Amino acid sequence: METVPEPDPEPEPEWIEAVATAYCSCEICCEEWALNRPDGIVYTASGAEAVQGVTIAADWSIYPPGTVLFVEDLGEMVVQDRGGAIQGQKIDVYFESHDDALQFGRQNVRFYIVND
Ligand SMILES: [Zn+2]
Repeated sequence: METVPEPDPEPEPEWIEAVATAYCSCEICCEEWALNRPDGIVYTASGAEAVQGVTIAADWSIYPPGTVLFVEDLGEMVVQDRGGAIQGQKIDVYFESHDDALQFGRQNVRFYIVND
């Protein structure tokens, strides 16, 4: 009898456990940066426009801008922003509304790196 080789299992991604917080473009979240919104467009520190569901802030010495992280329950997010309090493995998730950011609050999440 011919044996069909089992397909190689997908390698288990290397999950990183981290704390996630949330922010929006308001003055409470961004302080003086909130005043710099030409035409109401929210630009991140990388120059990319902030988009809810995509934009996160991270420590650029670990996750440089453009790094794609798959965050459990959130999906693929792109490092586009940074912040003084965002150090180490911590990530900060962008929301369009301050209420949504508050609702997200502070959570333990896990993610893995999709690209470098
Ligand atoms: Zn806010």
